Amino acid sequence: MSNPQSAIRNPHSPIRPLVRRLHPYVYGEQPKIKGLIKLNTNENPYPPSPRVLAAVRAAVDGRLRLYPNPTAQALREKLARLHRCKPDNLIVGNGSDELLALATRCFVEPLERGLQAASRSNAQRRGSGVNAALPSSTVQYFTPSYSLYPVLADIHGAAKNEVPLRPDFSLPDLADLPRGRQWDFAAALTFVTTPNAPSGRGYSTRELERLCRAQKGVVLLDEAYVDFAEENALKLALKHPHVLVARTFSKAYSLCFQRVGYLVGHRDLIAALNKIRDSYNVNGLGQAAAVATLGDLPYYRAHFKKILATREWLGRELTKLGFRVLPSRTNFILARPARLAASEWRQELRARKILVRWFDFPGVSDYLRITVGTAAEAKALVRAARRIVTG
Ligand code: PMP
Repeated sequence: MSNPQSAIRNPHSPIRPLVRRLHPYVYGEQPKIKGLIKLNTNENPYPPSPRVLAAVRAAVDGRLRLYPNPTAQALREKLARLHRCKPDNLIVGNGSDELLALATRCFVEPLERGLQAASRSNAQRRGSGVNAALPSSTVQYFTPSYSLYPVLADIHGAAKNEVPLRPDFSLPDLADLPRGRQWDFAAALTFVTTPNAPSGRGYSTRELERLCRAQKGVVLLDEAYVDFAEENALKLALKHPHVLVARTFSKAYSLCFQRVGYLVGHRDLIAALNKIRDSYNVNGLGQAAAVATLGDLPYYRAHFKKILATREWLGRELTKLGFRVLPSRTNFILARPARLAASEWRQELRARKILVRWFDFPGVSDYLRITVGTAAEAKALVRAARRIVTG
């Protein structure tokens, strides 16, 4: 096809109408320009441990011609020991993004087919005198949270139920949720980013458990940033059969490049997810890197400490410059700048070779999301911000 635009717009195009209408996920800029300070995609500023680099190098040989282990067996065994569960409670993915997509496909009935199935089963049940409930086609999540969730729902042809967080990004009170906020306690799949992105706000395991208990469908607690928080909710995935926890090696473990994430949960949910994943979904070098990562956790924990110290320093310095900095339990901060609009700040910082993220979403468009880099990067950011403020 010579002009892909025409294939996208043309009503006779071979591309499904759903795909033609789709707005894809917008990812942060990944520039290859030298000398940029990259604080826009929440990567870890520190490299993987030397043991991980050695493990990856050692795996680069003639074995590249072979398929990798299809179930990431060695990695799941190590993770099971770490999290005190069974390998059957774990599925590994090509980044946790893949697992969020798999969960959508596994637990949510696409809208049209959902309605068809509902009317079929209604007809069958009318015959048997049993009342039918509609199978849920709803993907539910708070806003703002990870902007991939609506895209996954759209790709799947599911219904979306977006429910705003409170203005301070805390979770709404469970008692408030039914009132006018249209929270769906029977949603097929509820995503909760915890700690929240892009606000950085943390949630207690107690309040998350209350939410999980109230929910009839699957709840997926997306803990991409949890290593930088005080609490994690992993135990909920091992306690409640409808709760899954997603983790990733990308952020805390400096492995974005390798794409390895995992879900923890009840073995029946994990078995269902396994049925629909690609046979060799996790590449072999990624598996080797993740296994070696688990063999050197103290290396990473030392870096978490540095990142947290830099986060607190950066927050204090930006506050002095008139920013409103929200408390963060992650490796980034959300901060509302003074004087100029947030979008202009992004441009001003970019002109000074510093990349930060700005989202044109309700509730956060006045803010910048700034990844906590090394102490030197944070200092460079504060220096640039000071120059922008003083003109
Ligand atoms: N969840 C959240 C909240 C994220 O911000 C990200 C990274 N953009 C992911 C999941 C996915 O991470 P990965 O696919 O690299 O594991």
